[in-house]
Amino acid sequence: MSSVPVVRVALPTPLRRLFDYRAERPGGIAAAMEPGRRVRVPFGRQQLIGIAMEVAAGSELPDERLKPVFEVLDPQPIFHPATLSLLGWAAEYYHHPIGEVLATALPKALRLGAALECAEERWLLTPEGGEAAARGEPRRAPRQRQLLAALTERGAPDCGSGERPRAPAPGLTAAELDEKLESWREAARALFARGWLVRVETAPAGAAMPSSAPIAMSPGPEPNEEQRAAIATVCDSLGTFGGFVLHGVTGSGKTEVYLRVVERALGLGRSALVLVPEIGLTPQLVGRFRQRFAVPMAVLHSALTDHERLLAWREAFSGRARIVLGTRSAVFAPAQDLGVIIVDEEHDTSFKQHEGGFRYSARDLAVVRAQRAGVPVVLGSATPALETLQNVTTGRYTRLPLTRRAAEAVPPRLSLIDLRTSAVRAGISTPAVQAIERHLEAGGQVLVFLNRRGYAPTLLCTACGWIAPCRDCDARLTVHLGAGRLRCHHCGADTALPERCPQCGFAVKTVGQGTERIEETLAALFPGITCIRLDRDVVRRRGDMEEAMRRMASGEARILIGTQMVTKGHDFPNVTLVVVLNADQGFFSTDFRAPERLAQTIVQVAGRAGRGEKAGEVLIQTEFPDHPLLLSLLADGYEGFARAALAERSQASWPPFSRLAAVRDSATTPEAALAFLTEARRTAEDLRSDRGGSGSGSRATGRAIRLLGPAPAAMAKRAGRHHAQLLLESTDRTALHRFLEAWLPVIESLPSARRVRWALDVDPIELF
Ligand SMILES: [Zn+2]
Ligand SMILES: [Zn+2]
Repeated sequence: MSSVPVVRVALPTPLRRLFDYRAERPGGIAAAMEPGRRVRVPFGRQQLIGIAMEVAAGSELPDERLKPVFEVLDPQPIFHPATLSLLGWAAEYYHHPIGEVLATALPKALRLGAALECAEERWLLTPEGGEAAARGEPRRAPRQRQLLAALTERGAPDCGSGERPRAPAPGLTAAELDEKLESWREAARALFARGWLVRVETAPAGAAMPSSAPIAMSPGPEPNEEQRAAIATVCDSLGTFGGFVLHGVTGSGKTEVYLRVVERALGLGRSALVLVPEIGLTPQLVGRFRQRFAVPMAVLHSALTDHERLLAWREAFSGRARIVLGTRSAVFAPAQDLGVIIVDEEHDTSFKQHEGGFRYSARDLAVVRAQRAGVPVVLGSATPALETLQNVTTGRYTRLPLTRRAAEAVPPRLSLIDLRTSAVRAGISTPAVQAIERHLEAGGQVLVFLNRRGYAPTLLCTACGWIAPCRDCDARLTVHLGAGRLRCHHCGADTALPERCPQCGFAVKTVGQGTERIEETLAALFPGITCIRLDRDVVRRRGDMEEAMRRMASGEARILIGTQMVTKGHDFPNVTLVVVLNADQGFFSTDFRAPERLAQTIVQVAGRAGRGEKAGEVLIQTEFPDHPLLLSLLADGYEGFARAALAERSQASWPPFSRLAAVRDSATTPEAALAFLTEARRTAEDLRSDRGGSGSGSRATGRAIRLLGPAPAAMAKRAGRHHAQLLLESTDRTALHRFLEAWLPVIESLPSARRVRWALDVDPIELF
């Protein structure tokens, strides 16, 4: 026991505890140990950066074992008390070590010790860059030329005389460039590499925005009655917590509601946090925020470099950015004076982190954050998650319906094509081909949806029955004909496409359809019509997506073939027909959420049809035209489907009628993967029946827990490792969490735990 004042530090380690360090140093540093600051401390033989969590008058450790803090990195706390308490809540709820949770909430550069002070990023032309601009270079890169021109306008260096400019050109800040040029960063990187630009960081010019500055740049369209009602309801709640589900069919103008609510919050001197699923896929939403608002905005997403992420984070932290827009981890962004949180496409599974250690749901944390901050949260979707709809039923959230599509748009007609009774060629049925022909002749565009990229999912030898397998997964390799490769979509394995069977030498055959093959088939069926494809194989860089959209918008392309990528909020106003090639993957999955995903996908894809004046038609090819969930979707839309699906969940006692937690592991052998979980289950049973002897309270709690498994994952072998899972289910959320708290330290100390990689997933959204 020591009575030296200590600071308790959260460190990014898997250990579920804080670490004590001496808070005193010559010069009386204790005051600087205020919670929320980063400190550098010795840890074993290394040094780690952690977060000071509390100062205590003494420690359990003896004096001689207490080491001093090396350095306090921040002049002020990097986490505000509210953020710190939210993260503390998350660590408890997801049962994850606080040090790692805090690390997740910071950009990498800050985890590594980058300064907290906000600097303004500014780009300047070098003399060489000025000369290049004057020569009209680089000739082949219009965006780079535009960037050079924009910087030249801002004070071109005097390059005619060959002398260095006398005063440095003022250049442009990143924020100014964001406004002038779209996706300028790529161009800036290229020009930087040639020595034509430099980047400097300067102290920002002044305080954020003068309060008299306008918030909105343009007034935006007049909202309709439903939009007005939704806006008014949320705005009335500004200043207090309220959960709102903006349930709007595609094209009903959800974004306009977000924009108006954000505008009101900004008008009250507050900021807004906007979460989106995948920024690369929602450039339109970011664009609309930029067009509408004159206030600085920080955009945080996974395609940023570490440095860019740091800069955006600092913009938010300093309070300069009044709008923070970002993907999953932006839920932890340090938005100042938060006024409202918006989660767009709240049903999207990318809000759930389901890899790595800290598996959280950004959507759920957004609600918790709003609750703690006393601000409204708006969950927007055309297809809200069943959990979200159940929260409406129980009165926890308020539903704000938007049922009308913009102006002339008429809802599309959905119908089924029975694959058992229709002639099918290369995956496309005759009725579908006829419909495509009809719509093309009428001047419409067609969207063909298939959620499987590549040419064919199987390569088969008809002589000996060999099927190209992945060596490291329980999966077949997908044929990518254009690239001449066989690829595994689960582990990324990539080999040359063989012409002959490696087993018997006979010619091999491709079986089944992927988007690449559908593109080939449609091109052959409709010669002279331009088809384009949108999937991860063709959309590789920023701009590829925009290019495809431009070709569809101009009418140059008439048929679009795409995967899930086409469902993400893009407008194709001239698409009058949508064909869903295979609707069946969702019905027979081991995952109870699969039908929900399928219905969401169908509704989202269908939403692409008939967004202009023309009514749309949606054809769904299926082998199971009598499936009750499919029928309820067709007859009563997504709401009808949701009612039916929730009734099934209720009967089976699946979420939202119960709570789940999954312990997942992987190991180099199937036996090891199961051994750990089997032992874990045994300890859970012991704890449940209280043979551990920790009182009657925990026995009562334990009884409420149902254990399912362990079982190998549906695809047990992935990337050379064998996966398995053990599920815990309870209708009593508190009991489940109390049980986990008692049980996790037990399984952490099991010897078999050391032979596997394992993680706990609270509220898992995918069951393997
Ligand atoms: Zn063979
Ligand atoms: Zn594989």
